Amino acid sequence: MPTPIYPLTNVAPTIAAILDIPAPAQSTGEPLAEIVADLTGSERCAILAPDALGMYQWGLWHQAMPFLGLLINQRHVVLRAVMPTITPVNFATMVTGADQSAHGIQAKDEDFQCETIFEVLAADGKRGAAVGQEGCTMTDLIGRWAECCGQVGKRAPRYEDDTVADMLLEVAAEDTPDFLITQLVTTDDIFHEFKPSSPQVVPHLQDMDARLNRLVEGLAELDYGIIILSDHGQHDGDGRGTHGSDCDEDSLVPCTWTK
Ligand SMILES: [Zn+2]
Repeated sequence: MPTPIYPLTNVAPTIAAILDIPAPAQSTGEPLAEIVADLTGSERCAILAPDALGMYQWGLWHQAMPFLGLLINQRHVVLRAVMPTITPVNFATMVTGADQSAHGIQAKDEDFQCETIFEVLAADGKRGAAVGQEGCTMTDLIGRWAECCGQVGKRAPRYEDDTVADMLLEVAAEDTPDFLITQLVTTDDIFHEFKPSSPQVVPHLQDMDARLNRLVEGLAELDYGIIILSDHGQHDGDGRGTHGSDCDEDSLVPCTWTK
């Protein structure tokens, strides 16, 4: 049986169902029943998003990521990113359940035109946190709406996301927010630089796999239900990787979960 494909607008209603709060008001998605069934009962919920790790790259390089492969082999769905398939638009969709016509985000310095999950959490006495690198969508856009924004200022090529992972685990342990979201940008950077189909991406995917393993172990100990997905994919462009179109390489992303 082919893996079902669902819209990325389903992510916010899924988080809301797990945390027993209403979905954001303009959400058009539906809770993903498989994820809700498995993660309900978790005290908290986290989204880990390796940027631009689409189904296209997963098909090419899954052997470089044995930890993620184990999770995906156990359970996964495929999600279709909303148009245009770029970072701020799809992270905005993750936290609103709405597409661009409703959330209004085209760039990370803009303001949401609809309710986000952070307002819904606050209305229920719950807290949301965003952790990411300085200058990225996670801090410049999502972090402005989250109650807590963890920002890592130093970009160190290749290992930059390890400092984000350190801070994420620190925020999770010290503040125990009900909802936690992070963007791990290395995958997007290296797919742009080398093209998704280049074997030069492999060492970076191995690093990302180890990073995800460390994050999942740390968060599971703190009773987080964890969803791993990407904001969009990438396709091979002229000399570098690119995205933004409605082709499957840009649009289809894997989504798995664990606790
Ligand atoms: Zn992205």
